[in-house]
Amino acid sequence: MAFIEIQNLTYAYDGEGDTREEALKGLTFSVEKGEFVALLGHNGSGKSTLAKLLASVLELQEGEIVIDSQKLSELKTEEELFRIRNKVGMVFQNPDDQLVATVVEEDIAFGPENAGLDPIEIRRRVYRALKAVDMLPYAKHAPHRLSGGQKQRIAIAGVLAMMPECIVFDEATAMLDPKGRRDVMEMIEKIHESGITVLHITHNMKEALLADRVIVINDGKVYLEGTPREVFSHVEELRSIGLESPQVTELCHALKQLGFSLPDDVVDDEKAIDLILTLYEESQ
Ligand code: ADP
Ligand code: MG
Repeated sequence: MAFIEIQNLTYAYDGEGDTREEALKGLTFSVEKGEFVALLGHNGSGKSTLAKLLASVLELQEGEIVIDSQKLSELKTEEELFRIRNKVGMVFQNPDDQLVATVVEEDIAFGPENAGLDPIEIRRRVYRALKAVDMLPYAKHAPHRLSGGQKQRIAIAGVLAMMPECIVFDEATAMLDPKGRRDVMEMIEKIHESGITVLHITHNMKEALLADRVIVINDGKVYLEGTPREVFSHVEELRSIGLESPQVTELCHALKQLGFSLPDDVVDDEKAIDLILTLYEESQ
């Protein structure tokens, strides 16, 4: 069984009057231990609803989520809930919503303190987590004075300090400037390399290219699934649900429609340049 199993997940919010707004409509997919999966979908496709169900912030309505063989519908005690919550860490879009203390190291210590760990273990974890996100020199700083990217790295350190087996990033780069985005993506790659399972929710194509596998969701269901190259080669299908493929994939697709012989699955800039130069030379 995969580390995370999302089985036929359906979720509806209360709408106006008696209506119900269905955000998830039978979503099904799984994530293997150690995998880096990008979840792609336009606004309103149900991504954050899924993240909140995974974090047990929302209660299951229909379908099942299984984390490390534990069905969330069968969690009985607070201890069981606590244990499962510690396996899957969450990083959300707005770092300001996740920072709780007035000093960086206290912020990171918050989770381990709540978990009742002993002070020496807490210190060790705070140190390791700060080091992992390259923020050791900022241990005594005030989080609210940091840049968006730095704040997000502190939020990530807070999650790392709980030593989760999986981290879900819900558009964690969306509010950041280009440098903040790059830094956070670098952290995400490092976290993945350290063996932690990553579910990265994004609508940034370049970020999705870094994943082992891309799952596209649309209207609360899986729409496409595969390696980044496989998924992005479906330029027209993606466009029909308001998503773009990487620029070079779109370029090769446009040239192909003009009659040039080019593959559909070019996602790499260098590769595209090579192919187009070869076409040019052949035409001379
Ligand atoms: P995404 O994260 O992909 O943008 P969401 O999961 O936030 O999508 O939202 C999916 C759908 O559920 C949208 O149509 C949205 O309007 C609706 N929705 C989300 N949160 C609420 C809420 N608290 N109350 C009512 N409807 C909601
Ligand atoms: Mg969202």
